[in-house]
Amino acid sequence: MRTAGRIRDADLEEVRRRANLIDVASEYMQVKRAGRLYKALCPFHAEKTPSFSLDPAKGLYFCFGCHEGGDVIKLVEKLDNLSFVEAIERLAQMTGVDLHYEQLSDADRAAHRRRARLVDAHREAAAYYHETLKRASEASDARAYLLQQRGFTKETLELFQVGFSLPKWDALVTHLKGKGFSEQEIADAGLGARRQDGGLVDRFRGRVMFPIHDLTGDPVAFGARKMGTEDGPKYLNSAESPIYKKSQVLYALNRANRENRPGSDRRGVHRRDRAPPGRDPDGGGDVRDRARSRAPARAPALHAGRRPLPRCGRGRRSGGGADVRPDDR
Ligand SMILES: [Zn+2]
Repeated sequence: MRTAGRIRDADLEEVRRRANLIDVASEYMQVKRAGRLYKALCPFHAEKTPSFSLDPAKGLYFCFGCHEGGDVIKLVEKLDNLSFVEAIERLAQMTGVDLHYEQLSDADRAAHRRRARLVDAHREAAAYYHETLKRASEASDARAYLLQQRGFTKETLELFQVGFSLPKWDALVTHLKGKGFSEQEIADAGLGARRQDGGLVDRFRGRVMFPIHDLTGDPVAFGARKMGTEDGPKYLNSAESPIYKKSQVLYALNRANRENRPGSDRRGVHRRDRAPPGRDPDGGGDVRDRARSRAPARAPALHAGRRPLPRCGRGRRSGGGADVRPDDR
């Protein structure tokens, strides 16, 4: 029987914590250690020499041949052709996590559908900003900054969907409207801001854009670093929105692991310049530090609105290894 339910956030986080990329990948392919990384023949395209690279510290994989990339959940989704929720269920079985499902009311489901629209707007915005970074002549300084000063490569820019917002008033707003998003949705998502005359303008202009993801990997906000002469602070984050509470999200670059941010092994880069894009102008400190210590207990699980809902009772108790949380009932 299908029930409206979603996997509890604490369980989701436990699966993420336990599912080791190398162990999981080894179930599907032969992985070989190569220094700090592991290599394998890419499961997504035909090849004779391995260009599929797995980084155990970051918990991310990337293929230099076909540019497939992601984390352990993405890997299982792709290899087994599963939805996000199904991939979590499979990983929970592999790692002995007992999943619990929360029931949703009709009102909850409506709220989740609305959230899904705002997430979709972010996904579209991230793709647009990313294309702009790769192609726009106005983005040449941003490209140079990322590749030469921040230690990104073309592959990591791709993997993290780093982007650029044009120094124009309504580039993104116009793009999103063309994709069928209403002004209200763009404003609610925090991607546009109302002018005094009621018109809607882009919130981010002339900035390098770093998508911020929630626990499920959905893009819910941006961290933005100023490049040109636009007004405003050097680092600007999305304002809080129905899908983004600053204390509850993880930064894309830190999604899997902490110390190995792209560029963190570069020497001689001035510390200030390595300040994370998520530096929070109104709260002080780095949103990622707070995310690390306080997330993920209450992050909204956005998958329920967009992805197939899990069936009740499929969480399997196995191995006795599952934590019993104080709020279990
Ligand atoms: Zn490949």
